[in-house]
Amino acid sequence: MLNKKVEASATVVMNSLAETKRAAGIRVFNLTAGEPKITTAPAIIEAAQKFIARGEIFYPVTSGIAELRQLASTWLNREYSCNYSVDECLVVNGGKFGLYLLFQHLLQNCADYKGKEVLIPAPYWVSYPVIVNMFGGKATIIPSYEQTSWKISAADINNYATADSKILILNNACNPTGAVYSTDELRSILESAHARNILVIADEVYSGLVYDGLDYVSCGSFPEYKDNVVIIQSMSKNFAMTGWRIGFVFAPDAIIKPLVNLISQSISGVCIVSQYAAIAALKQGNQITHIIRDTMQKRRDLFLKTFKDAFGSELTIPNSALYILVPLTILGVTNLGANEFCLRALDEANVATVPGNAFGAVDYVRFSFAAKEDDLINGLWALAKWCKQL
Ligand code: PLP
Repeated sequence: MLNKKVEASATVVMNSLAETKRAAGIRVFNLTAGEPKITTAPAIIEAAQKFIARGEIFYPVTSGIAELRQLASTWLNREYSCNYSVDECLVVNGGKFGLYLLFQHLLQNCADYKGKEVLIPAPYWVSYPVIVNMFGGKATIIPSYEQTSWKISAADINNYATADSKILILNNACNPTGAVYSTDELRSILESAHARNILVIADEVYSGLVYDGLDYVSCGSFPEYKDNVVIIQSMSKNFAMTGWRIGFVFAPDAIIKPLVNLISQSISGVCIVSQYAAIAALKQGNQITHIIRDTMQKRRDLFLKTFKDAFGSELTIPNSALYILVPLTILGVTNLGANEFCLRALDEANVATVPGNAFGAVDYVRFSFAAKEDDLINGLWALAKWCKQL
């Protein structure tokens, strides 16, 4: 029997260690969190409470409530110039489970993709290589560099793809680098993928958290490549609804249908209360996302300023998402690797961060700027003080 060991997500591990310390009464500055620390908007809570009060909490429709799929499609089409119908939208338990289902379907059940290579630009979100390996695929890493704004190009696809490469995961806007791709950059990547018959899975869960007035372009906005693209979306980041666990897969009908079958034989569907909460959020249009984006941009700027004051160095400004990748050298650390640095920083300075290794960024540390303001300020000063005596 195949028995693969699946490692735990490094972000979840560091977050859990931090929360264990906090539960023991220790003041911990948790800069690991991949979530906007903002309370759920009142309209969302009210809608969920109203639905619960009706008491009809029965099994959900497997593919998700039609009204939610319709609102999500309308939202994506309106915000990002896409063209998805309600039947091309599936409700899942967060974007993460959408990716899990997709890879389960493609890598295990589809002859064209079974055991094939998945191109993953690094730095990458921790779960990509693990999920790909879990379902028998082969993760092929395409490196990217700070000097080129942590982006890959069509040329990289041509250099790294082999005849066995069948899927590319493109995370735009990117965790952990904050990279955001332009229309031209995306078009050439999509063109190159299409020419090689590579399916593009576009993880766009941070699409609304793009800063400084920069435009966001979705891979779903190129009609000529629509059949070759799957979009992963989520209420988690754009609507600060991480704990509600609502995400979406937008894809051609031929991909959505088998995913619905997998859901019907596993989780049966997504919590119905959360689906009604998501309906209320989407009915608010952009309002909620704008508040989150503005708050996160302020926290990013506060992080950058405090970092400069505490460490005396300027960091490259991330254009999106919730994270900053900081080289160990900028932290003044030359005698520790990132894993040891992060474990000791939590142990000795009570500051929780995540080692870049988990994201394919060796000798970097990932900070989240989504934490509350006083955690950002006090955490960075505590870390700077601790780093000085290393
Ligand atoms: N994709 C990326 C790049 C992420 O950072 C995350 C969460 O941190 C997810 C997907 C999954 O988010 P969720 O499952 O909460 O929608």
